[in-house]
Amino acid sequence: MQIETIAIHAGNRNDETTGAVVQPITLSTTFIREADGSYPSGYIYSRSANPNRTQLENVLAKLENGADAAAFSSGNAAGMSVFQSLEPGTHVICPDDMYHGLRNQLKTLFAGILEFDFIDVNDGKLLWSYIKDNTGLIWLETPSNPLLKVTDIEKVVSIAKKQDIKVAVDNTFATPVCQQPLALGADLVMHSSTKYFGGHSDLMGGALITPQRNDWWAKIRQVQEMGGAIPSPTDCYYLVRSLKTLPYRVKGHVHNAQLLAEYLEKHPKIESVMYPGLKSHPQYEIAKAQMQYPGGMLSFCVKGGAEAAKSVINKLRLFTVATSLGGVETLIEHRASVEGPDTKTPHNLLRVSVGLEHIDDLIADVEQALG
Ligand SMILES: *Cc1c(COP(=O)(O)O)cnc(C)c1O
Repeated sequence: MQIETIAIHAGNRNDETTGAVVQPITLSTTFIREADGSYPSGYIYSRSANPNRTQLENVLAKLENGADAAAFSSGNAAGMSVFQSLEPGTHVICPDDMYHGLRNQLKTLFAGILEFDFIDVNDGKLLWSYIKDNTGLIWLETPSNPLLKVTDIEKVVSIAKKQDIKVAVDNTFATPVCQQPLALGADLVMHSSTKYFGGHSDLMGGALITPQRNDWWAKIRQVQEMGGAIPSPTDCYYLVRSLKTLPYRVKGHVHNAQLLAEYLEKHPKIESVMYPGLKSHPQYEIAKAQMQYPGGMLSFCVKGGAEAAKSVINKLRLFTVATSLGGVETLIEHRASVEGPDTKTPHNLLRVSVGLEHIDDLIADVEQALG
């Protein structure tokens, strides 16, 4: 089935007792045990499994063409479960442009537990030179946050496979509508469901998807159940609901992002635009080959430095100045000040999560703010 159909049907289960077309929220934390000690519903206690989470995990797995999925209370909890599933002392190779929250998590919570390097993973020679005997995982994020760098997933997988190293991909920016890393050979996909999956800036969640139920997956499931960083039944319900429109929302975001990127690129006050759908993007060819669509995120640098960039932000009326992404409303932010003093992000860079407003209204707003 096509992704639009999967999104609508794979997370829903009609309710046999009432005939409700939409699955109700099961708030109960505990489930009845029979005299013989069995649990006829299959559910025991909601930290281990809950009917709403089961359906959410089902649709998540199918959207990424995986065998199974695990849902978490946030994207960072999903990422942390991956790092916790590794043997202490494992060496992890990460991209130099990586979601700062996970980079800080590694540096702060996993210092002394895991070893890690942050490098340009697109440089095959460099990647080879960083692989050690204890390297167990290569973490990818493509397109990356906030520079929209695109990594050739198949190329990294081919290097990793020769050394029996796993490859995990943070697919938050792309969503499975734009890119399916498991089909390119990745061993795991990670999402912040807070972003496009939720899509309305009103819930937090995270997800991991596996192509097969192997030993590593069993360990990740153990971290999920024993660690307990699970989403509530209500959050699962709202995510299943939002996922039904994911393919159409993402196609709308992509449509607007492409047109806004083309507009900005021609504007005399703009120094550069980073969007994988532009021919000027350094990895345009890779993006074209491995992505179905170039996504809804873009960054641009304003001529005149940080002050000029901040003044553009302050003049915008329709764009909301806030962090995060993937919601229906357009968000813009001065990324360097969000990431803190050790950031490598250019100080004149603005990151846009292009929303679903009409593109003419978005462009008119940018025009007045730049003018
Ligand atoms: C937001 C985000 C995360 C972290 O997810 P939370 O839901 O905020 O914990 C991880 N990776 C990327 C690319 C993100 O944008």
